[in-house]
This record gives sequence, structure tokens and C-alpha cells, in this order.
Amino acid sequence: TTFEEANLCETLNKNVSKSGYMKPTPVQKYGIPIISAGRDLMACAQTGSGKTAAFLLPILQQLMADGVAASRFCEVQEPKAIIVAPTRELINQIYLEARKFAFGTCVRPVVVYGGISTGYTIREVMKGCNVLCGTPGRLLDIIGRGKVGLSKLQYLVLDEADRMLDMGFEPDIRRLVGSPGMPSKEERQTLMFSATYPEDIQRLAADFLKTDYLFLA
Ligand code: AMP
Repeated sequence: TTFEEANLCETLNKNVSKSGYMKPTPVQKYGIPIISAGRDLMACAQTGSGKTAAFLLPILQQLMADGVAASRFCEVQEPKAIIVAPTRELINQIYLEARKFAFGTCVRPVVVYGGISTGYTIREVMKGCNVLCGTPGRLLDIIGRGKVGLSKLQYLVLDEADRMLDMGFEPDIRRLVGSPGMPSKEERQTLMFSATYPEDIQRLAADFLKTDYLFLA
């Protein structure tokens, strides 16, 4: 592939090729190097821009480089990455893309959203979870139940941030980011994606991202 600049390992490269992606979209071309460099990012990107792969690939690449393996059947899971999106359709798409890219690796993505039974969700999480995808309410729920610890968290991704605010999720998102044990913004890498960049999103970016975050439009 021409995803060469992304410096992906062989398995990830193979999985990208299998997806039929021939060349990176702009948000991938410019976003991946920023994320790989460890910088916080606020990216204005629409659905269809390829933003999902733009954040998943560098995160998965780093987790694989670190040799991360999910601890199977562990009471409390400590994910390395949490990805938040407003609706079950969206988070499920992100999860399916993560599974596709993580195929054949030790990374185990799990998805949580309202409508899946809590028992099933907890069992899926306990089987091993290093990339946790969820809607804000369900993430708060599973963290509140003590099934997910935040001490190993390296990446926090807020996708479709403007839609999350439109849907009234700001209090939930703020509670999530303020959860006990959540690494401070200095300790984690935070990535925000939003189609629009109104004042309330700028405020969220100022609150959640490091002061030297990069802006991609
Ligand atoms: P997203 O904006 O992440 O929701 O992606 C929109 C659609 O574009 C998804 O169906 C992806 O599978 C597809 N896609 C993402 N990146 C690429 C790429 N580099 N080449 C072709 N299709 C892609």
C-alpha cells in the first residue's frame, strides 16, 4: 500500500490492504504522523473522510510496538485506549473497523453501548479488552461498576464531538474525562474529531487537550 509513511507493522499493513484502502485520505495522510508523534490533535473531519482509520492505525501500531496483550478473564480490565462516539451505529462502525485492523494481533477491541445487556457487556469486557469503544453513558456505567480501570490508559479519542454536544452528552463526557483514575491530560494522549468547530467544541478542546495540541482542518 501507499500507507508506507504510516510505518505500520506487517500485520497491520496486510489488514489495511485487505480493506482495499489504496492510499490514505487527507485526514489520514496528515493526521497519522501527528498521532504517531504523540501529539494531541483536534481534527475537523466529516463522516466519510476516513477519520476512523486515521486514529485507529497509529494507536494500534503503538500498542503492537509495545507488545500489548489483553489479559484474558481478568476481573478488572485496564484498556490502553478508550474511544467515545455518540451513537451505537457510529461506535459499532468504529469497533468493526478496529476488529478488522486488529485481526491476527493481540489487541482485543470491545464495544459497549446501550441496548446490549449489561451481563453480556461485562463478560465481553472481562474476556480481555485493550481498546474499549463505547457511547458515553455505557462507558460511565462500566467504569462505575469497577470492571474497567483507567490506570493504563494512554489514548482517549472523542469522535463526532459536535454531535455528542448536540445530543446533550457534555455532562457525561465531562464526568467520563473526570472519572477517578483518569490520567491527566499531561499523562494521556487525547484526540478529538468534530465536523464543526463552534465555541463549545473549542472550550472542550481547551479543557481536554494539552496546550500545544495540533489543529487539523
Ligand atoms: P470514516 O470517515 O472513518 O467513517 O470512513 C468512511 C469510509 O471510508 C469507511 O467505509 C472506510 O472503510 C472508508 N475508508 C477509510 N479510509 C479509506 C482509504 N484510505 N481508502 C479507501 N476507503 C477508505
